[in-house]
Amino acid sequence: MRSKMDREQIRKELALQLEGEIGRGIAFWADEEWNAAARRLLSRQPAPAESAEPRESARVDPKGPPTEAPGAPAPRRTPRRTPRPQFGPPPLATGRDPDWEAQLAALSEEAHQCVKCRLHETRRKVVVSSGSGRVPLVFASEAPGADEDAQGEAFVGRAGQLLTKIIAAIGLDRKDVYICNVLKCRPPGNRNPMADEIESCTPYLQRQLAILKPRLICTLGLFATQVLLESKAPIGKLRGRVFRYQGIPLVPTYHPAALLRNPNLKRNVWEDMLLVRKILDEGLPAPAVPAEEVPARSAKPRIESGNLFGQS
Ligand code: SF4
Repeated sequence: MRSKMDREQIRKELALQLEGEIGRGIAFWADEEWNAAARRLLSRQPAPAESAEPRESARVDPKGPPTEAPGAPAPRRTPRRTPRPQFGPPPLATGRDPDWEAQLAALSEEAHQCVKCRLHETRRKVVVSSGSGRVPLVFASEAPGADEDAQGEAFVGRAGQLLTKIIAAIGLDRKDVYICNVLKCRPPGNRNPMADEIESCTPYLQRQLAILKPRLICTLGLFATQVLLESKAPIGKLRGRVFRYQGIPLVPTYHPAALLRNPNLKRNVWEDMLLVRKILDEGLPAPAVPAEEVPARSAKPRIESGNLFGQS
């Protein structure tokens, strides 16, 4: 009996949290059960187990507040809903060399033969990218994880599945954007990349960006952000702001793996993604922040010593 009551309490708490997230306009969730609950709430359908009984919010009389018995607990307030943003078709890439796809293919071929750092000794597959890049938006992260190392494609693990949902939430298909990492080979055991590995591999990312000429770069997690911005500032200070890499607007946000560990970051990521989509559609609304203006957390370089948010 007690565990049934506990479950009911948990269900109510989760429903309240979910309604709050929907109310703030957040449109992606980490797991399928949560997604299904979100879809029901968004479409105002009752959950299967509740179909015989109207949902709490459905019991509210739209003509006025219900008459409460004296001493009855106050009715739960339904959070105010932010309308879900509607997105049109995304812009397509322009201004690239006519043979940009051949250039990317040549780069990929080169990386697959690469032995410039020790990571070639332990990798199973080289992971160059995911997505066609026909939409001029590049997501850049840290390094392949175990799933990517096995499959040879960026962001295919659990964090990758969440990234797919995040991208879909702003009206894009991950097949159309370009997803890549600073390192193309997995550091064994997902350890932090070493400085010489970063130095050896970063030119591949620089060349990818030069070929793709994206309208916008979104860095996922501290590592890629610090490498591209040459900043030592913490991700919490960098995210949600617009910087520039080689003149290209760059918006840092949290790594999806961090989001899986801490769902409270979801709201920040959602705000960052709305900013990404806005810049993709409309261009940069204001001057970008110079990265050197964001104070570093410590004098010690993050890429040598910090704890990364996790692998893709
Ligand atoms: S991590 Fe980069 S530099 Fe090192 S072997 Fe792989 S592709 Fe080459």
